[in-house]
Amino acid sequence: MGKLGKEIVKLDVDVLLKKLNSALADEWLAYYQYWIGAKVVKGPMKDAVISELDLHATEELGHATLLATRIVQLGGTPVLSPDEWAKVSGCGYDAPVDPYVETVLAQNIKGEQCAIRTYSDLLDFTRDKDPVTYNMVLTILSDEVEHEEDLASLAEDLEMMLQHRK
Ligand code: FE
Ligand code: FE
Ligand code: MG
Repeated sequence: MGKLGKEIVKLDVDVLLKKLNSALADEWLAYYQYWIGAKVVKGPMKDAVISELDLHATEELGHATLLATRIVQLGGTPVLSPDEWAKVSGCGYDAPVDPYVETVLAQNIKGEQCAIRTYSDLLDFTRDKDPVTYNMVLTILSDEVEHEEDLASLAEDLEMMLQHRK
């Protein structure tokens, strides 16, 4: 662990590590929710939805990598077992038991909105206190805002298509 790198952090590192581990668990659950969603989703515009779900899955895994790396840098231990994911996660997991596109999109939009709140809070927590974590969180937050928009726009297209059929 880099001693000076941790010394320059002007906040309670244990509290920060808890928040980062909660976000790490969120990312793994989000990864799986997208990954399995892409496998089971059914209905109109399925192909476009699958592409977006698969891409988001990959991006959530990228967020998990950033978080785990930062946790180690700060002298913490990233969650070591999948058993812990549901316990420490802030956003939880929504199983796509109903595979209809509209339902899967709505579940993932809800997940992204939770992620946006989580990272927005982390920005407030680290602002002017831990620029390295702040910068990482800002990168992740920008992706989550994009994710919400991508899914909302697919949901809108789907809605339009179904409206015009009537
Ligand atoms: Fe993410
Ligand atoms: Fe996301
Ligand atoms: Mg996207």
